[in-house]
Amino acid sequence: KVRVRFAPSPTGGLHLGGVRTVLFNYLFAKKHKGDFVLRIEDTDQSRYVDGAEDYILDCLKWCGLIPDESPVVGGHYAPYRQSERKALYREYAEKLVREGHAYYAFDTPEELDKNRKEIPNFQYGHFYRDSLRNSLSLKQHEVDQLLDAGTPHVIRIKMPEDETISFNDMIRGHVSFETNQVDDKVLLKADGMPTYHLAVVVDDYLMKITHAFRGEEWLPSAPVHLLLWEYLGWKADMPQWAHLPLILKPDGHGKLSKRDGARLGFPVYAMNWFDAKIGELTPGFRELGFLPEAFLNLLAMLGWNDGTDNEIFTLDELISKFSIERVNKGGAKFDFEKAKWFNAEWIKRTSAESLKDKVKAVLEDKGVAVNDDNYLLKIIDVIKERCTLLADFYQQSAYFFEVPREYDINSVKPKWSDAKTDFFNVLMSRYADVQMWESADLENLFKALMEEKGLKAGDVMLPFRIMLVGGKFGPHVFDIAALLGKNETINRIEQALA
Ligand code: GLU
Repeated sequence: KVRVRFAPSPTGGLHLGGVRTVLFNYLFAKKHKGDFVLRIEDTDQSRYVDGAEDYILDCLKWCGLIPDESPVVGGHYAPYRQSERKALYREYAEKLVREGHAYYAFDTPEELDKNRKEIPNFQYGHFYRDSLRNSLSLKQHEVDQLLDAGTPHVIRIKMPEDETISFNDMIRGHVSFETNQVDDKVLLKADGMPTYHLAVVVDDYLMKITHAFRGEEWLPSAPVHLLLWEYLGWKADMPQWAHLPLILKPDGHGKLSKRDGARLGFPVYAMNWFDAKIGELTPGFRELGFLPEAFLNLLAMLGWNDGTDNEIFTLDELISKFSIERVNKGGAKFDFEKAKWFNAEWIKRTSAESLKDKVKAVLEDKGVAVNDDNYLLKIIDVIKERCTLLADFYQQSAYFFEVPREYDINSVKPKWSDAKTDFFNVLMSRYADVQMWESADLENLFKALMEEKGLKAGDVMLPFRIMLVGGKFGPHVFDIAALLGKNETINRIEQALA
């Protein structure tokens, strides 16, 4: 059975690349009727950030990518938080030491710092390890003494010399590494916690993970993981790996970072993330007014396509069409204008009923009270084509709830005339007699009066709009009048003429 995992470290907000990793894992799992596991990789206590795990869970909930197993819902392979699994990693690290694939290292942080400063390109590896303080360079009785005395130590992998290690990546194909280039990574830290390298391998094995999708930035760690799978005797169970292409800055130069978002004025995180330590808020797509459907859709298109020109997909369509063969090797440039286009398309495609609560929240946030849901639904239907972000619903609909506070009157004033005043006075009395208050009838009455008075659309149509809306925007003006109702329409004309 296909089993995939998203294995974030709770160190802060989720970058859009992180959510794309979730999405590709999820699509692959669901396509193959498999399981999607969420595992929290919190073994690095120095990088642990309060609230980050909840943030990740909220984010998955917002996107609708719900794990089958997680720290919250549990599962057969619980616990799903690595800090709660701490006790089980040591035995594997010790086994590696016994079998000669790993060793104890007693060097203090100060000693290591000194080496890094004094030796150019210092690497804890085959070149230097014999001159450092570890169980490869010391005599057995010295090692025993240090261990008996409880000397702080780590366990490091012993990288073999002059070997080429390779594997087949589902996206990149054949990938190989020279072991001499890779240092002897720490597997178990002095505090007894495993590092990511050991924990990821042990847990992918114990949790029976079959496929692992992760960002390209993890590719350099792959040789260490490959060797661990082999040394622990689990090679046959190793998941198939897919390293997803990077998401690049809009100009294609380098990986998109949180700072690029701040610099270029767009969000990079899925949801707002408040870093309590530095009191800084990183804005998110959700709060800016993206629909989760649009967010997932745009993420899917960062590095994947279905082989046609089609760009709009529901999550179900993505599940049925997704294939790893169609994921690109090259990085995908992030284009915020395009991201907004996806959102506008999704707003158009989403029913007023489904948009209702979100729009209501936007309006209420701005102090606009919505008392009549039916009225709101009709408004959403006439304006949704004009909205790119959810927040636009405020600007596009506030006039339905409140008399315009300001009129963009300068665009009509210079050409004003008594004939126009007369037109609107007659219009008000004709409208007052209308029984069925409907857009088409209002338009017919308006046009008939125009003809009678010898006026053109250019003379009175825009002023009429400004009277109702306050500005030169919005849908068909008679649809607006129809929605506002008789009294309100007449009142607004009256008020504007006064
Ligand atoms: N814990 C790693 C991270 O924070 C997971 C990498 C992997 O999927 O192997 O992204």
